[in-house]
Formats: sequence, C-alpha cells, structure tokens
Amino acid sequence: MELKICRNAVELLKRYSDEVAPVEAVALLVGKASGLYGEVDAIYLVSNERRSSSSFSVSPEDLAFVARDIGERDIIGIFHSHPFWKAYPSSADMRYMWGYKFWLILGVDGLRCFTLLEEDIVEVNVKMEERQCDLIKVKK
Ligand SMILES: [Zn+2]
Repeated sequence: MELKICRNAVELLKRYSDEVAPVEAVALLVGKASGLYGEVDAIYLVSNERRSSSSFSVSPEDLAFVARDIGERDIIGIFHSHPFWKAYPSSADMRYMWGYKFWLILGVDGLRCFTLLEEDIVEVNVKMEERQCDLIKVKK
C-alpha cells in the first residue's frame, strides 16, 4: 500500500494548514489509483464548511466544482489537518471519509495516510516524489 505525492503538494498542504489554523484544513487529492496504490497528480484546496478545529466537511458546491474541473480523472483521497491532535482518523473522520480511498492527515506528529481495509484502519506508506502536482485553490 502506497500513496505517491509530489513534494510541492506536501509543502502547499503544510502551508495551507498553517494559514487556516486553528480551523482544520481540507483538500481533495486527484489522480490515479489501482487497488491500494495511488498516485496524486493534483491537489484542490477547499474550505472546511464547518469552520471547526475538530471536524470538517466539504460543501456540495466545492465538490461539484472539483468534479467538473478534473474531467476524466478521479478523486482518490482526501486531506485534512489536525491542528491540535495526532495524525490519526477520529470517529467523526470515519463517518465522513469512508467514501474516499486514501485519507491523508497532517497532525502535530506529522503527515500520515490511512485507508479502510475490511473495516480496519490501516496505515498507507506515503512516498514523496520530486515532480510537480497541479495546485488549485477552489474559490468561494
Ligand atoms: Zn480528523
């Protein structure tokens, strides 16, 4: 199990998380996935509709924008930050994220990725690559 992501995307996600803290930052990960191997090509920064430091959601408008913009590509995962907690899915996260394959979380202990495998939370290796992802900020 592995998620490949570009260094410029990881740097952007860290910056964005600092910018919006103490609210949780959210982004959609677009690219290709085959089984539990994924490759991120583009990052869409979206707003945390809940404006909360302990939970998040994405508005239907933002989701619709991203779905239109990516064309044939797929949303393979979702990113969010934990401004005050470790990078591990909370029970609230589980309810919101189950529909996404890869869950990338930036917590106080770093960046980690998880997936759901037969109802168990399993960690996925994150591989940072020296290439450029497309970075898009979805405007309100
Ligand atoms: Zn969370």
